[in-house]
Amino acid sequence: MADLRYHVDGDLVPADEATVSVRDRGFMYGDAVFETLRAYGEEVFRWDAHAERLARSAAAIELDHGLDSGELKRRIDETLRANDLEDAYVKLSVTRGVQPGKLTPSPDVDPTVVVQAKPLPRGGVDAEPIWDGPATLQTVKTRRVPDAAIPSQAKTHNYLNGILARLELRVSDADEAVMLDADGHLAEGATSNLFFVDGDALCTPSLDGPVLPGITREEVLDIAGQEGIPVNEGSFTPEDLRDAEEAFVTNTTWEVRPVETVDGINIGGGPVTTLFQRVYDARIEREHYGGERIGDGAESG
Ligand code: PMP
Repeated sequence: MADLRYHVDGDLVPADEATVSVRDRGFMYGDAVFETLRAYGEEVFRWDAHAERLARSAAAIELDHGLDSGELKRRIDETLRANDLEDAYVKLSVTRGVQPGKLTPSPDVDPTVVVQAKPLPRGGVDAEPIWDGPATLQTVKTRRVPDAAIPSQAKTHNYLNGILARLELRVSDADEAVMLDADGHLAEGATSNLFFVDGDALCTPSLDGPVLPGITREEVLDIAGQEGIPVNEGSFTPEDLRDAEEAFVTNTTWEVRPVETVDGINIGGGPVTTLFQRVYDARIEREHYGGERIGDGAESG
């Protein structure tokens, strides 16, 4: 890993020497937006969706960084090529840069733009998954920051909310924290979206609540449409999740990860979860490797 190179403000530099100023607002205040992406076969997955979300995040915090999506993609591609990476984890950060030391931001932005990348094997449903078994979930006391405080659709460097939620897991040793909104309804995981199966329907907290619009969440909803699975995007209680027939969590890194337990109660995956895993995997196979994996029959459309 030591000889990886990162992209910092337009230059590829050795990862160990990739630094930003201590006066950078990303460091001082978390005043920055970012995307976590995965590359499969040299290409990042769902770039357009990530670029759009980054733009929405930047708009939500009035960060006019002046870089278009083509330029950001070029820097990601350069980083992948410079490191000879095919299957990789990629993190793109855009901060409000260094400004005079006061909280109120200046509209004159000289952004700091960083691309980090590291190898991440593809894994998948028929191969060794990248995660260590199905997820154990624990409902935590830390509430998800309300949308009225920090816009939920903005993916910013300010991750203290999720960090505090994850710190609570030290007692249960669970993999992911289930965060509730201010009213006690299900919101999301510290770094993942929540799904569960109730009867015929796939349920997930709606984006009316404090929920990040996950790119994987969107993909899962698209797969549900394709497969004719009814979706209930609504407002749910922790009991709804604990009573679920199946549950899974999603994010770019985990993809579709089955849930084993919630608050110590056994849930387990099942046929619906497996279907979403298979179709997600089949889409990656088709779009990035130009083929079909054995057993990909689930992809019908
Ligand atoms: N919610 C939060 C708070 C997250 O940090 C993430 C990870 N980016 C997600 C949901 C899942 O989003 P995605 O599918 O785009 O990775």
